[in-house]
Amino acid sequence: MTFTALNPNSAPAERRPVVIIGAGPAGLTIGNILRAAAVDCVVLETESRRFIETRQRAGVIEEWAVRALERRGLATNLLARALVHSECEFRFAGKRHLFAFGELTDQHHYVYPQPLLVGDLVREYADVRGGDVRFGVKDVQLHDLDTERPAVSYLCPETGQRRMIHCDVVAGCDGARGVTRNALPTERARIARQDYGIGWLTMLVDAPPSCDYVAFGIHPRGFAGHMPRSAEVTRYYLQVPPGDDPENWSHERVWAELRERLAADGAPPLTEGRLIEKRVLDMHNHVVEPMVFGRLFLAGDAAHLTAPIAAKGMNLALHDAFLLGDALVAYLTKGDHDGLADYSDACLRRVWDYQDFSQWLSDIYHGTASGDPYVAGTTLGRLRRLFTSPAAAVAFAEQYLGSAPAF
Ligand code: FAD
Repeated sequence: MTFTALNPNSAPAERRPVVIIGAGPAGLTIGNILRAAAVDCVVLETESRRFIETRQRAGVIEEWAVRALERRGLATNLLARALVHSECEFRFAGKRHLFAFGELTDQHHYVYPQPLLVGDLVREYADVRGGDVRFGVKDVQLHDLDTERPAVSYLCPETGQRRMIHCDVVAGCDGARGVTRNALPTERARIARQDYGIGWLTMLVDAPPSCDYVAFGIHPRGFAGHMPRSAEVTRYYLQVPPGDDPENWSHERVWAELRERLAADGAPPLTEGRLIEKRVLDMHNHVVEPMVFGRLFLAGDAAHLTAPIAAKGMNLALHDAFLLGDALVAYLTKGDHDGLADYSDACLRRVWDYQDFSQWLSDIYHGTASGDPYVAGTTLGRLRRLFTSPAAAVAFAEQYLGSAPAF
């Protein structure tokens, strides 16, 4: 990418070792790791602080990620406030099947809404560790990435001036719709895509969970999911046609469909409540390989989007952030290049394992509604195996928790 000349009313250029683009879980975790090692950096974010601290998305964090946050002093609130899940329930063919993954692996899921985690991370970075984060920036551009003097420029929201920051490394953490991925020349990056051809109506409901654990409804009418988020709020999912209009889903229709798809002998009744968020997401994934171009290192959704089918996207974003943060500290404080050299391969090993699990789980969730009796039959066969074969149960639990000893 070429250097863009600054116009005459531009502010003087700055210099920082690292520019991080995007204040999501990936960018803020990297910022915190750098600040803890006294490495200077700046985080650029298009939205406001209030917006990022209230944007609802993920909730499930795997235990290895919680422990890695804890080791970096970033999990105090999470450990005090998160729900800890040791089991989930599959409901199919009118029966409930409890899956006690905690007993099988001695590991757990932590349920902590993404805005709370982002709030903790931005507070620690900006207010405690004194990190520089600039909100509301516009038109972020990357320059000279394949040289030793890359730079990032943006329009300052207060003055309208273009500001230029020269740096050693750019961390592209601006999510699935950011600009950094587009800076990779097409001949240098391969983008693998997967479209499930399935939509999910994702909802947040102003009501307590109907039971203490995640419940998956595998039903001929389509998948339904029940995900506790807190004592007051529950996330629900309904499989719908891709591109469906959320306005097609009235309160009454949503609850009738959830009741039917999550029904099973002895299941507690659903606790109904007001729908406080209702969106249709078309389920698709993509993976960029390699996650590096010159001095640009991608992390999180900017490099690999994972549909929320298996609740993996934020976990992968955190994994990238731990690796990139540590590698940058080693490089910038000791001149050790090994972590950066291995960064893309090390991230992608976990990414592809999780992509495979997401694909497998999608077959399970959506198979009985495929309209194909053969697919429906094999789906039920796979599900029954989880509850009849201890080896299959352990293998599933390991992928569900991301707890394999190596990737
Ligand atoms: P983001 O969180 O997208 O952060 C990127 C940041 O960059 C944003 O703040 C954005 O405003 C900013 N930005 C964008 N463009 C620019 C730009 N040009 N310049 C500067 N800043 C920019 N994952 C899980 O692990 N567990 C779950 O339970 C789970 N549930 C989910 C449920 C739903 C309904 C959805 C939609 C997703 C879910 N995910 C889950 C996925 C998870 O939310 C994402 O994977 C996670 O947010 C990725 O973090 P990130 O830091 O890479 O990107």
